[in-house]
Amino acid sequence: MSDCLFCKILDGEIPADIVYESDTAIAFRDINPQASTHVLIIPRQHIATINDIADSDQAVVGSLYSAAREIAKAEGIADDGYRAVMNCNEAAGQTVFHIHLHLIGGRTLGWPPG
Ligand code: AMP
Ligand code: ZN
Repeated sequence: MSDCLFCKILDGEIPADIVYESDTAIAFRDINPQASTHVLIIPRQHIATINDIADSDQAVVGSLYSAAREIAKAEGIADDGYRAVMNCNEAAGQTVFHIHLHLIGGRTLGWPPG
């Protein structure tokens, strides 16, 4: 998708602090971090929202959680705990329409979210 910010990061057109790469996913630090660890994990495949995930995308979407597990371990937050959350559409606060798992940790997180 030529007008997608995260596809541009995937293509190297826009720089990002990439912390993880696999065949199906990459992860980079959020430009406006909400905790000491705030990483965005995205599929290489452009999928706009959770509503657009096809059943045939299950392996790709599952790989985002494998990435979360590995990054949390590398960041030293796996045992203390962290949040892995994906917003869907405007009411949930989605602003970039290429699905991304927010991996947030390094502090105590409130629940429920505002
Ligand atoms: P969401 O609101 O769930 O769509 O999350 C989008 C996230 O992308 C926000 O947390 C932004 O801070 C982050 N973001 C926007 N532009 C960039 C960028 N160029 N590099 C890294 N993170 C970004
Ligand atoms: Zn995209």
